[in-house]
Amino acid sequence: MTRTFKYRIYLNKKQLQKLLSDIELCRRLYNIALEQKIFAYKQSRKSISCYDQINQLPELKKSFPEYQSVHSQTQQDVLRRLDKSFKAFFGRIEKHQKAGFPHFKGRDSYNSICYPQSGFEIKGNKLHLSKIGNIKIKLHRPIKGTIKTCLIIKEGNQWYACFSLEIKNKEIENRPIKTAIGIDLGLDSFATLSNGEKIDNPRWFRNSEIKLARQQRWLSRKKKDSNNRKKQKKIVAKIHCKIRSQRNDFTHKLSRRLVDKYELIAYEDLAVKNMVKNRYLAKSISDVAWNGFCQKLLYKTDECGKYALPVSPRNTSQICSGCGEIVHKALWVRRHKCSKCGIDMDRDENASINILKLGIEEYRRNYGNQRLGSLLNRLNHEPRSLFPHRERVVHLIKIVE
Ligand SMILES: [Zn+2]
Repeated sequence: MTRTFKYRIYLNKKQLQKLLSDIELCRRLYNIALEQKIFAYKQSRKSISCYDQINQLPELKKSFPEYQSVHSQTQQDVLRRLDKSFKAFFGRIEKHQKAGFPHFKGRDSYNSICYPQSGFEIKGNKLHLSKIGNIKIKLHRPIKGTIKTCLIIKEGNQWYACFSLEIKNKEIENRPIKTAIGIDLGLDSFATLSNGEKIDNPRWFRNSEIKLARQQRWLSRKKKDSNNRKKQKKIVAKIHCKIRSQRNDFTHKLSRRLVDKYELIAYEDLAVKNMVKNRYLAKSISDVAWNGFCQKLLYKTDECGKYALPVSPRNTSQICSGCGEIVHKALWVRRHKCSKCGIDMDRDENASINILKLGIEEYRRNYGNQRLGSLLNRLNHEPRSLFPHRERVVHLIKIVE
């Protein structure tokens, strides 16, 4: 699997200037290539491939010699980025979603360059970038594995190098499953676990959102191209930066705690969840935090031979975790009450138990009963250590057997 390691880098004045000018050239290249595609299509209904555009790069360098100072693979990567956004656009059309044609990049929406294969090297505490020089890098944790790509990105006023690595986990033996948990992600609480635990949204979720909205409102009132606007932009970027690191910290700690404790973790497949949920409920911060959280669950379980399984969230809040009956309820109904089997419990807790059941089923489909032995054993002999309420355990045994 591929993983990204992110490190802070510190640029001197000269390097900063060079990087900013490289990014600007790449941004222009992106826009030129986009224009070329649009023009060719309008003129002769022809589409120009990424491959064609890459082949035209040497010609571009002849007419615009300033491009000779940008690493050639970095330029190719720009064209691949454009290609990717076109592919995503056509993908959305195919799925009958809101399409959103790839747009021209303004100065504020282009803030990174990528070295896709070569042109970078780590020497001690320096990162050598081709055509830029040796940059001071803070390697706060060791890099294990082979680096495939290096992305240099500006976030607020800070610069980072992101290395993507191919990691092999073959030598790790998968563990027997002794404990399992289901997670329901929500807006009232960040998550509800199948053991009844609620994980609250951190207070800064809401606070940062209010703060960001306020500063963005200020920004929209500033005159275009004014100095005040530039200042305000920096303030907004700083808040974004802070939110990002708070969110990362929160999802890292939570996923670590769960992965340490459980061998099998079932969670909702977010791609499906986003399709079924009401749009007006969507809050950007929790959306991104959910994504980050699930990604971290995946790679952290993978690293130690445990399992994180995404399951379809469809109907998980309506089905009764006790008897399987569908109990329809509106979004604001917070309790699940089943008239058939008499269960009365928190709505999200009911959903998370359903998610756990789906997760165990998914596991059995993929791996068989292997390694589930001790879970079955514990369910039969000391179930209360796994789940607090007896009746739920009975139902779980039913589906596992
Ligand atoms: Zn029921």
